[in-house]
Amino acid sequence: MARILHFVSVIMSNSTTHTFQAEVKQVLDIVAHSIYKDKDIFLRELVSNASDALEKLRYTQLTEKDVFEPTRELAVEVSTDEAAGTLTIADSGIGMTREELVENLGTIAHSGTKAFLEKVKESGGANENLIGQFGVGFFSVFMVADEVKFYTRTWRAEGESLCWTSDGNGSYTIEDAGEALPRGSKLVIKLKSDFKDFSKKDKVKEVLERYSKYIAFPLKLDGEKLNTMQALWLKNKSDVTEQEYKDFYKFQCHAWDEPQDWMHFAADAPLAINSILFFPTHNPEAMGFGRAVPEVSLYCRKVLIDSEPKNLLPEWLRFMKGVVDSADIPLNISRETLQDSTIIQKLNRVLTKRVIKRLEERAKKKPEEFAKFWRDFGNYLREGIATDFDNREALAPLFRCESSILDAGTLTSLPEYVERMKDSQKEIYYLVGANREAIESGPYLEAFKARGIEVLFLYDGADDYVMGQLGTFKEKSIVSADSADIELGDVPQTGTGEPLSEEKMKTLCSWFADTLGKEKVAECATGTRLVDSPAVALNPDKFMTATMRRMMKLMSKDAGTPDKPVAVKIELNPRHPLVHKLDTLRDANPELAKLIAEQVLDNTLIAAGLLDNPRGMTQRIYELLGKL
Ligand code: ADP
Ligand code: MG
Repeated sequence: MARILHFVSVIMSNSTTHTFQAEVKQVLDIVAHSIYKDKDIFLRELVSNASDALEKLRYTQLTEKDVFEPTRELAVEVSTDEAAGTLTIADSGIGMTREELVENLGTIAHSGTKAFLEKVKESGGANENLIGQFGVGFFSVFMVADEVKFYTRTWRAEGESLCWTSDGNGSYTIEDAGEALPRGSKLVIKLKSDFKDFSKKDKVKEVLERYSKYIAFPLKLDGEKLNTMQALWLKNKSDVTEQEYKDFYKFQCHAWDEPQDWMHFAADAPLAINSILFFPTHNPEAMGFGRAVPEVSLYCRKVLIDSEPKNLLPEWLRFMKGVVDSADIPLNISRETLQDSTIIQKLNRVLTKRVIKRLEERAKKKPEEFAKFWRDFGNYLREGIATDFDNREALAPLFRCESSILDAGTLTSLPEYVERMKDSQKEIYYLVGANREAIESGPYLEAFKARGIEVLFLYDGADDYVMGQLGTFKEKSIVSADSADIELGDVPQTGTGEPLSEEKMKTLCSWFADTLGKEKVAECATGTRLVDSPAVALNPDKFMTATMRRMMKLMSKDAGTPDKPVAVKIELNPRHPLVHKLDTLRDANPELAKLIAEQVLDNTLIAAGLLDNPRGMTQRIYELLGKL
């Protein structure tokens, strides 16, 4: 009977109990038991949420007619009650519906929180610094709370007055608030006995004053107004301290790292712009989080238009964070229309130019720092070079890589390479390989080395494509050093003996090609660039490098077409003893000569990274060994 009554009362008050998503439980567990010293951050997170809710409401008011309590002041009101040991944070923002409460406060969408959990896993347990570093959003309230009541009423005309309650131990309830609530949210925090300080006005004031300056709405503490609401990005650069930029980055951009650099600028023409843009320290895509979303918010005279505007920056700048305020943005058009408008295109052009200029300056003034940036964020710039036609030329000088004439670990650039080029050299050469050792031990480099020609070393699979897209730099073609039609001039004489006669080589080459067949060897010729190796596989097509062939092979496999071997051009070294040997064996022992020719081909394919089935080769080596 008692159970039935309880059940009825649950239905009457429309109360439902929910369990938190597993990841939320994990976070709550870590947060509640952390001994993190800087508990203040929970207040930063909650005020930031209140401010977000107000910004969303302000935008909603621009686009929706039917907003509940349209004339209500937009503000954050914090109040302390020392006697009750509570702290209350209220806002007149968008509020939440029942579904939104479950979605937003019962599950994790917050990317910082995901990053936090990932880090916890990585470091084998929570450590107190992590929470401070990441800020785990709303859930950080449970560091200081015994119980939290979240009262909320949505901005929609039809809406419920709700109360969400939890002690942070695995579950929460949602019930009718029992009274008609005003629009927005009110968070009542019952403080743990150790943290009753946060029910004292002085303590709370001290914390709020640090963040209040980033809120574009009145912030009141026990009725007293704390801020002047001057947006940081509208201020003069010289009036903003480094700490203020860093706080702003965390507060406004929801960032959990420190910015590595930022740019604060204002412009009048061709558009009115006031902007602060941050370069984060951590690559947001580095921890396996998938594609980053652009987090440069768009404002018009301090009114947030869109927190994740599309097309404001090119795709490859999606790691940037910050604020762009332009008084030229029309307020009455939808986000969708806006993102394709000419004004957004213009902003995009101006901002991208500024960012590139900033990177150029850094590269020039602080090369070490820029090298680190390239290592962490180079992929975005590579993407820019490959895909952003308008900015390709400006981006190319920022490309960094190692080179054959510099020490391992030292990065160089295309302008530096061109500067070092001898007059006789017409093209820019590069080789792609897994690492420096792989390239240096391969057969492609020796001809360039022998002539003192510098070759750029690229280790990223995408570099080949990037170079292909770039094509030229300062009117010099960029060419993979494994292409067939490179004119390097005469081979310098090295100690490998007399060359076979031209005629002998001709016959040997056609024998080699015939013996191995057209589908494997497209062409065989006397090598002009070999020094120490007997043979090398070259790309018959200058614009189709080995890496690109490998990629195409992979794709054709995916497409279900049978795996065809790639035909290569083989060059034989007329001075090499093995080539001499092959020439005599050809008549003396054709069977053995064929085996050797096959093995020579496979060796060149291995060096080119084009051999994908070594099984036949092992068999052949045993056969060769048997002939000893
Ligand atoms: P984040 O702010 O990064 O999204 P939080 O954990 O701080 O993550 O908040 C989770 C979500 O809860 C927010 O995205 C928002 O949808 C909702 N929320 C939190 N506080 C409020 C509030 N005061 N008013 C309306 N919605 C809120
Ligand atoms: Mg938040």
